Amino acid sequence: MVEAGKLTEEYGCLVFNDKIMRERLPKDIYKAVHKTIEQGTHLELDVANTVAAVMKEWAIENGATHFTHWFQPMTGLTAEKHDSFISPMDDGTVIMEFSGKELVKGEPDASSFPSGGLRATFEARGYTAWDPSSPAFIKDGSLYIPTAFCSYGGEALDKKTPLLRSMEALSKEAVKMLHLLGYEDVKRVSTTIGSEQEYFLIDKDFYKMRKDLLFTGRTLIGAPASKGQEMEDHYFGVIKPKVSAYMHDLDEELWKLGIPAKTKHNEVAPSQHELAPVFETANIAVDHNQLTMEVMKKVADKHNYACLLHEKPFEGINGSGKHNNWSVCTDTGMNLLDPGKKPGENIPFLVFLMAVIAAVDEYAPILRLSVASAGNDHRLGGNEAPPAIISIFVGDELAGVLKSIEEGTDYQGQGKVQMAMGATVLPHFTKDNTDRNRTSPFAFTGNKFEFRMPGSAVSVANANIVLNTAVAEEISKIYEKLSGFSGKELESKVMEVLREVLDAHKKVLFNGNGYTDEWVAEAEKRGLPNLKSLPDAMPYWISDESVELFTKHQIFTKEEIHSRYEILLENYSKSIHIESLTMQEMVRKDLTEGIIAYEKDLTKEMIQKKSVLEGAGCALESEILKTLDDASAGISTGLKKLYDDTKKAEEMEDILRQASYYKETILEDMDELRKHADKAEALIPDKYLSYPTYGQMLFSLR
Ligand code: ADP
Ligand code: MG
Repeated sequence: MVEAGKLTEEYGCLVFNDKIMRERLPKDIYKAVHKTIEQGTHLELDVANTVAAVMKEWAIENGATHFTHWFQPMTGLTAEKHDSFISPMDDGTVIMEFSGKELVKGEPDASSFPSGGLRATFEARGYTAWDPSSPAFIKDGSLYIPTAFCSYGGEALDKKTPLLRSMEALSKEAVKMLHLLGYEDVKRVSTTIGSEQEYFLIDKDFYKMRKDLLFTGRTLIGAPASKGQEMEDHYFGVIKPKVSAYMHDLDEELWKLGIPAKTKHNEVAPSQHELAPVFETANIAVDHNQLTMEVMKKVADKHNYACLLHEKPFEGINGSGKHNNWSVCTDTGMNLLDPGKKPGENIPFLVFLMAVIAAVDEYAPILRLSVASAGNDHRLGGNEAPPAIISIFVGDELAGVLKSIEEGTDYQGQGKVQMAMGATVLPHFTKDNTDRNRTSPFAFTGNKFEFRMPGSAVSVANANIVLNTAVAEEISKIYEKLSGFSGKELESKVMEVLREVLDAHKKVLFNGNGYTDEWVAEAEKRGLPNLKSLPDAMPYWISDESVELFTKHQIFTKEEIHSRYEILLENYSKSIHIESLTMQEMVRKDLTEGIIAYEKDLTKEMIQKKSVLEGAGCALESEILKTLDDASAGISTGLKKLYDDTKKAEEMEDILRQASYYKETILEDMDELRKHADKAEALIPDKYLSYPTYGQMLFSLR
């Protein structure tokens, strides 16, 4: 374990970070790299050659023998292919080599990654290109170089490329706007993200015994344990010693990789936990979140745990998400979502706030889609995560500010209120201006927005691509209306325009409880979309509005949009297809084996009992046997229906109809089958089951 005193030394020790570059690169090279990072300028090959040489030396000193381009294909996972540094010599020895060309460009075979029809299988060429804005690092004896991944034709095949493009677009529009507002020293604006990551830990041996967890990441059958989360005793509860050891180890591994893990605690559901990092620039934060998920699993394995990142591993208790805290910061250090002391007079803040409100309202379906996946759709709207309806919580103070804009009055402000806790020994502090709202999908939290819909298992890139682009678009629209004005005229024009924007989009503002049925009805009245699943939301992705948004800001070409449409739909259908097959197998083999074994023992016992005890009623045994027999009948019918319907699904050609069918029919079939399966399982003693129950999995951590 790292000693606390050594932490500052150990932090980032496996990262080729700015400090190392400053120390080791010749001054002019260091400057050139920085220029590339900050201004997106082209990197010359001689610069790349020098960086590569220095990087190699540093990597070898730190135990690396290989290097790999590390990229994020549209599987949502990361990909890597390792090459060693060795280069054989004539005399039978080797030297260690790594060139600028190898650093800058890779050529993985792209044919086995999802491309959504962007390229035919025989056109295998793909490229990875170094992203110097995200630092290289060492993991398992390899130097990892973060890269973007594209096809031979230059189309993006990954999540990093569009994310970088969306950050550029937002920066461009924001800088233009800030210049107009008199902040001419701002050259660049970046989005910052802090993504809180939820996860479950269960015993590794249990994990290995369940096909559903192994193949699909979630349990497909399982009677609820007698205890769930109703005692509210897990959230922020004392962290158990073994779990705590895991969390320590995890923090350390993350810190070495320069990932600023900050907060850890128990979550609402039993065996559920959360880790939150300190926020970073979007691109790096997304890379770091991908790495965090990977390290979580790896460290779990070492501690004899399995780390479950699926959004809904267990029925009946909370699932896991990823809160995407998002803000915009200038290179001059101004957080554009910080209201400051006088939010009513803070023009840049008001403009950006309004742009976010407009973006979320106007592009709600696309934002909803950015977090849609087979896994996450189980969670949204389930009274645990935010509802599938997108609305914004701004809190009392900002609601006051917005009201005064609407009415054209001066905002007076609430002032700070002292907290009174009724005991004089307690320190005095001022209250926050707004309470929290836990049910809102998109909440203003002081100096940032917290988008709470992303799922725990997937990259947060998609959500941020959509958010950045939509906000860039709204800023550009506000700019259009303001350009040409200056001085006093500009000031009054700003307020007029903000009033217009607010008027058009205030329907998305909602400060109440998002879990109630009244809100669902109210939202419908307001015309807010309620898109329950990925197939419901998918048509919006290829709508004219969406194509116009993304092509205008050069985030995606029309072809790239369509390719993602295909990939998302196919991925959705494939996930549920695997779930269906896994469930059939588990029920048919594992559960049925348990049912039969128990029934056999029961009947044997009843016959014996009756033979020794005249008039024995065997009431309890009979009742259990009868219920098991009924459940078996339900299971048999359910299995047949699921099998038949899955066959039908396999045959379907239209990918949207197929995905809808998986959602409407297959998931329904699975629910129906599960009802009978769980009824049977609830009666069977643990020793008859070849897999662990909910009770065993959720309450065995120490
Ligand atoms: P919660 O109460 O929502 O659980 P946490 O303190 O756990 O809050 O997490 C808040 C997250 O927001 C952290 O990751 C933090 O770094 C991040 N954050 C704070 N300020 C900003 C900002 N300006 N931009 C983006 N993220 C931010
Ligand atoms: Mg949060």
